[in-house]
Amino acid sequence: MAVIDYKANYTNVWEVDDNFYQYVEDTCKTLYIESLKDLPPDVRRALERAHEREELESGKEILSTLIKTVSTADDQKLLICQDTGIPVYFLKIGSQVRFDGIRLQQAIKKGTERATLEHPLRSSIVNTLTRKNHGTSTGNQVPVLHYEFVEGNEIEILIVPKGSGSENMSYLKMLTPAAGIEGIKKYVLECVFESGANPCPPTIVGIGLGGTADKCAALAKKAAAREVGSPNPDPDVRKLEEELYILINKMGLGAQGLGGSTTALAVHIEAADTHMTCNPVAVNMMCWPARRMRATFKSNQEPIISY
Ligand code: SF4
Repeated sequence: MAVIDYKANYTNVWEVDDNFYQYVEDTCKTLYIESLKDLPPDVRRALERAHEREELESGKEILSTLIKTVSTADDQKLLICQDTGIPVYFLKIGSQVRFDGIRLQQAIKKGTERATLEHPLRSSIVNTLTRKNHGTSTGNQVPVLHYEFVEGNEIEILIVPKGSGSENMSYLKMLTPAAGIEGIKKYVLECVFESGANPCPPTIVGIGLGGTADKCAALAKKAAAREVGSPNPDPDVRKLEEELYILINKMGLGAQGLGGSTTALAVHIEAADTHMTCNPVAVNMMCWPARRMRATFKSNQEPIISY
């Protein structure tokens, strides 16, 4: 029997050294703090565009207050919102990186705790039953970690601190296949409308389609964490994103749900295939300060920080 030499396919392997885990810890501390203070440029631009377009005087005023909040946070190095959220990390792990996954998880958690204690930040994480706050922004299964494996020899860590106002307005429904695309649209519009002001609009509406119930919910979160207006590469999915963006903004909920033409800064969809008798749809919204920050580790050196 022929033996497959897997190593032959890996010509550019990066074997991490001990310093890597310390870099990850230090970096996750920085990512958490900075993501709460520095809004990504695409979100800033989207808020500016919404402000320019808004015709309703009250809506324009609210958007200008949101923009001013961001510039005050910039000037005074303050948090954009007091809600430090649930720390959620998305990891992209290159196929040619060799590392200890347990140590990587520990380093991410430690960095999150250090950000909370050393900055200090409000810890929003409690035991679900006792409601006891550990004071560290971490706990059982928190930070929430999502993993994806990709080609290459890099590790990317993206933090998305998820505010509770928007996270509480999360939805999942197992539609019937007969409901079709029209059923999907109707359900998403109902979710956004029922949420009203609660997710702190204008939001990024993340939609998961397909998979199983759990996969669908994870896809919605991934969609909400994308750069504003980054289109899905699948033309059918992109068409649905565009249609829903128009329909949602026609609702007139507007900024903070007080009326106006921008309820959503963007609509993003992530889709998976599903069972022939399933049609799952999930909605997960990102509030107006759609916070995120990423670090890319390429070797045993300090990472590159971006949004
Ligand atoms: S949902 Fe977002 S904007 Fe609203 S309070 Fe929480 S972090 Fe702040």
